[in-house]
Amino acid sequence: MSKKKDFLHTIVEEDLKAGKYKEIVTRFPPEPNGFPHIGHAKSIYINFGIARDFHGRCNLRMDDTNPTAEETKYVEALEDAVEWLGFEWDKPVRFTSDYFSKLYEYAQELIKMGKAYVDSLDEEQMREYRGTVTQPGKRSVYAERSIEENLDLFERMKKGEFKDGEHVLRAKIDMSAANMKMRDPLLYRIRHVHHHRTADEWSIYPMYDFAHCLSDYIEGVTHSICTLEFENNRDIYDWVLDTLELKPPRPYQHEFARLNITYTVMSKRKLLELVEGKYVNGWDDPRLPTIAGYRRRGYTREAILNFCEQIGVAKANSTVDVSQLEFCIRDDLNTKVPRVMCVLNPLKVTIENYEGREELEASYYPQDVPKEGSRKIPFSKEIYIDREDFNENPPKGYFRLTPEQPVRLKSAYIIKCKEIIKDEDGNITEIKAEYFPDSKSGEDKSGIKVKSAIQWVSAADAKQVEVRLYDRLYKSEAPESIEDLNPNSLKIIKNALIEPAVITQKPDERFQFEREGYFYADPVDYSDENPVFNKIVGLKDSWGK
Ligand code: ATP
Ligand code: MG
Ligand code: MG
Repeated sequence: MSKKKDFLHTIVEEDLKAGKYKEIVTRFPPEPNGFPHIGHAKSIYINFGIARDFHGRCNLRMDDTNPTAEETKYVEALEDAVEWLGFEWDKPVRFTSDYFSKLYEYAQELIKMGKAYVDSLDEEQMREYRGTVTQPGKRSVYAERSIEENLDLFERMKKGEFKDGEHVLRAKIDMSAANMKMRDPLLYRIRHVHHHRTADEWSIYPMYDFAHCLSDYIEGVTHSICTLEFENNRDIYDWVLDTLELKPPRPYQHEFARLNITYTVMSKRKLLELVEGKYVNGWDDPRLPTIAGYRRRGYTREAILNFCEQIGVAKANSTVDVSQLEFCIRDDLNTKVPRVMCVLNPLKVTIENYEGREELEASYYPQDVPKEGSRKIPFSKEIYIDREDFNENPPKGYFRLTPEQPVRLKSAYIIKCKEIIKDEDGNITEIKAEYFPDSKSGEDKSGIKVKSAIQWVSAADAKQVEVRLYDRLYKSEAPESIEDLNPNSLKIIKNALIEPAVITQKPDERFQFEREGYFYADPVDYSDENPVFNKIVGLKDSWGK
């Protein structure tokens, strides 16, 4: 599936060629503290993609070392997202918490080697002792503790004899290292909190830098792929594995650029803030960049995967324009979904010279889409068109219905305005029109020239539907706070009118509403009695217009 070779593929290929590993093992290691977003999709695509391309395997590991933020519902959302994207992890799902006992033993090992010590400085002293980029740090007096004392204290930390923050376990590396992360990093801290899986069994929890490399090693991971902000952590990753002198082969860490997209935020913490503050309606709100949000909005997995392929893997951070993602979904749906007519903002048109009723045959797909299928569209004297498609005082270049200018009703006849009916406030309530009987679509002999064809529905046959129009979640390209939220990111139309075949025939779940965009039958709220459609994306890039 991977078309171009990125730097990660090259590394893996060279490692295989050099005989460093027999089998490639990657992992996707999310922390279950929120719903996954499209940045995670990129990571999933890379990790599972490499495993697939090199006939290896990829683990799904819940990095659950920070108990306060973690919940089982997030674990489920993560599993769900990987499955929906079409990937299979090497069973079962792994949890870092499964390795707590083993990790504890490795820590004891480091203590015995004189490479780790229990420190009892308070937080502020610890910060002070660490020094700065330009100034070396100094080591804590507690670093002089004997191995026996360290082992004893560490065990008592585990047993829960001390309060949070009273002691920590630190690696004994180098307090003047240029890489600040190497200045005796924390390996364990005391936390008397309930864990979503190990309950109250542990009062100490390993730090990311200690747990991650060893979890990778325990699982036989060969390539530990992560985002660039972990670049400085790589030295600790290597130090832990090398110091413990583990039996080879061992994993190596490789970093790639994080995905950022314009007009949205991409961090679980910020997304949680939006969900909890009720700025959006839950984690699957179609405006969110979560996988659940895109799914509910109507994005297809193919579109998301194509997007991940297109943006590629780079070593420098950058922000991708959201229109690139929108292009991918449009491109995917264009060749797949039926075209139907829905009038979002109905204006009644009475065709005075038409009597009776007929059914017009119309294809669901345009000629350039190689798919079959058609439906019958009822036509009658009373129809609705969109208010936007009539203009009493048209600006130059307006090609739709005006008092002077006729228009074609798509797949039907040409009509001409005869009279405009208004209420006492001057609002147009109805158009009286006439149609040209010899202008039927496909057999037009009228000779009348029109400049456009518009959507319409027959009044007696149309179904009322709810349509949810989504716009960008933030009004600024690189949002900084809640203040930047777009107040018009959701517009609900309760009384849109749709042609009946959509409800009765159900030709698909996704549609192109002619001239409006792509829409999806909302998987949660839709019913035949109360149909709800989500706007997936417009037909062309119309932001700011
Ligand atoms: P967040 O701040 O959104 O929670 P995170 O990095 O803390 O991000 P994790 O759950 O720890 O999230 O991430 C799991 C994996 O997904 C990691 O390997 C991480 O590097 C990767 N990942 C997270 N966000 C992105 C992103 N925006 N682009 C690419 N990969 C990402
Ligand atoms: Mg993380
Ligand atoms: Mg995070």
